[in-house]
Amino acid sequence: MVTEEKTELLSMLPAELEAWMLSHGEAKFRAAQIFPQLHRGLSPEDMTNVGRSLKEKLLSDTRYHLPTVEMKLVSAIDGTVKYLFGLYDGHCVESVVMRYEHGNTICISSQVGCRMGCKFCASTIGGRVRDLSAAELLGQVIAAQKDMGERISNIVMMGIGEPLDNYDNVLKFLHLVNCEGGLNIGYRHISLSTCGLVEGIERLAAEDLPITLSISLHAPDDETRSAIMPINRKYGVDALLEACRKYYARTGRRISFEYTLIAGKNDSPALAEKLATLLNTRLRSKREGMPIHVNLIPVNEVEETEFKRSGKQAVAAFARVLEARGIRATVRRKLGADINASCGQLRRQHGKNT
Ligand code: SAH
Repeated sequence: MVTEEKTELLSMLPAELEAWMLSHGEAKFRAAQIFPQLHRGLSPEDMTNVGRSLKEKLLSDTRYHLPTVEMKLVSAIDGTVKYLFGLYDGHCVESVVMRYEHGNTICISSQVGCRMGCKFCASTIGGRVRDLSAAELLGQVIAAQKDMGERISNIVMMGIGEPLDNYDNVLKFLHLVNCEGGLNIGYRHISLSTCGLVEGIERLAAEDLPITLSISLHAPDDETRSAIMPINRKYGVDALLEACRKYYARTGRRISFEYTLIAGKNDSPALAEKLATLLNTRLRSKREGMPIHVNLIPVNEVEETEFKRSGKQAVAAFARVLEARGIRATVRRKLGADINASCGQLRRQHGKNT
């Protein structure tokens, strides 16, 4: 059993690792020596250029645990790779690597389970078990990159969990993954998706990191949204859009909106009109209004829920209404269709079998 009290090496920023070296009677430069290796997926034991005494100190005072590949599915259609990763305490999360022309993008999980309760989502069915540490967030990227033997250049935080419900660890992760000696992934190559925790959005705006914010909106009014997303009863559509407006005013970064289309629930042309009016009046009333992009995603049907995906025609009609009102809308290309690549479902299946 790995003891949790020991500091996780992968959660340390370069300055923290330097301080650790100094407090353990080691030269500061040792930090710069091991940091890149840790972030390439080498544990202190694996390192060849580190002396015995430092290794022993690291082994007794710190821990290093990369997520282990419990299951790996590769799509025969588009090469999408889905991992079920095991954590040090036996819990599992999912990560998905998508291959685009501009490079590999990984979708990572932020919590074991989720407590946001969105009705159509598989990740929330068993509730939240625990948060992932900064090291475990980073570990997903390192482990996938190591397993694939290919660089991962983009990250989306759209897997299991609500990133802004695990704020401090997520923020630390963003700093870690951006480190030069480490994975060196630019903030502009990172997207964070939230169901709309307004205080978290405000905090994030104040960090001044040029990441892309993605809002899971899924409905243009409180009645429709509260029926599928309980979080809307705490932060309604108005408050959410106001947080988005402020986020853009502060960071200048465009926001993208996710809209999952569920047959008969939120996919009527009337709701598309309402969505266009909402976005146009709340976010684009001034001439320099923000560029808005809406991603339309026909819902992935989850065994435990009654929601059905909207038909092709309903999706196209919804998109046409938005375009006619000047809002860019794209229907998300489904990757990894043959490996059930949307998040949350593999973990649930695995949980049932064990
Ligand atoms: N908690 C964050 C990130 C994780 S969910 C958030 O809510 O944004 C990532 C995206 O997948 C969200 O837009 C979420 O609403 C969507 N999603 C969840 N279950 C889905 C399903 N069954 N079909 C399609 N999209 C789904």
